[in-house]
Amino acid sequence: MSKLFENAIVSIQLGVEDYQANDPRRAISAVRNFYAGVLLLAKETLVRTVPDADVSELIGAKYKPVPDGKGGVDFVPDGNSTIDFVTIGKRFKDFGLSIDQKALEELNRLRNDVEHLYTQKPDHAMREAIANAFPVVVQLFAHMDESPGAHLGQAWHVMLDAKALYETELKSCRETLSEIDWVSGTIAQSGLVCPKCESKLVRQREKENKQQSAMELHCRACDDEPEVDEVIAHSLQEALEFEAYSRAKETGEDGPLYHCTECGNETYVDFEGSCANCGHEYGDQDCIRCGTSIPLNEIIFSEHEGLCGYCGHMLDKVMRE
Ligand SMILES: [Zn+2]
Ligand SMILES: [Zn+2]
Ligand SMILES: [Zn+2]
Repeated sequence: MSKLFENAIVSIQLGVEDYQANDPRRAISAVRNFYAGVLLLAKETLVRTVPDADVSELIGAKYKPVPDGKGGVDFVPDGNSTIDFVTIGKRFKDFGLSIDQKALEELNRLRNDVEHLYTQKPDHAMREAIANAFPVVVQLFAHMDESPGAHLGQAWHVMLDAKALYETELKSCRETLSEIDWVSGTIAQSGLVCPKCESKLVRQREKENKQQSAMELHCRACDDEPEVDEVIAHSLQEALEFEAYSRAKETGEDGPLYHCTECGNETYVDFEGSCANCGHEYGDQDCIRCGTSIPLNEIIFSEHEGLCGYCGHMLDKVMRE
């Protein structure tokens, strides 16, 4: 067994043992060990795909060109920073290895918020961490043609139980929200995320309530009682993060989230044509002066209702003269 693989297994096992101890003082080390182990496992998978490559080159996060002494350049690792979950996801793609990218993004987010997550109920947070990492761990072992049960031993059984327990909790939270008449299809599909601790274990106190704005929410993971608009805004950001990122990167467009002037939240979804929090619709507006259709951000931030940016600007000029 390679040193890297051995370290990955030990790190995951240590994380699971810390979780089983159910001691708040061991909570942070539980999630750190666990995530470190999953990351090492991912690195081992890459190493096995290209066994002749130099490991440090394979898992370096950044590269810089240096002169090769022959009039050209070589690319060498820049610093000691090694890849995180998102970067490793990209590398898997480049290597032609399938991996659950969405789960990796989630892991990165949770990993960065570790201290946050462990405020009150470490066992909940760790279960969520295990449940989120699960598809990734399964895929990694499959790529390496190894059996998780054989290597992780008892820890694998603990992981299976934790995942099942988390899924039961998630289901019961989601059931309290099953009657809600959601304003936004995005929220209806992706569900709620707690703005304080990032958990998906958000439920409403009155199961019978159908009205989104009347929900009294409670987070099972951190015990917070967040306001509806905060939760909607945060959940949208999580759900549409990738969409916003790829728009900005590929076409330079903004959105899909915009400010809602009606309720004051960043909850207006352009492709849904309404605010996910209050249902306000800007609609299609044509400039009353020149007749062109006014882009969304000009409608929102315009100081002259009914005018496009250009005509508003011309009006300002006329008024100043
Ligand atoms: Zn919470
Ligand atoms: Zn609104
Ligand atoms: Zn105009």
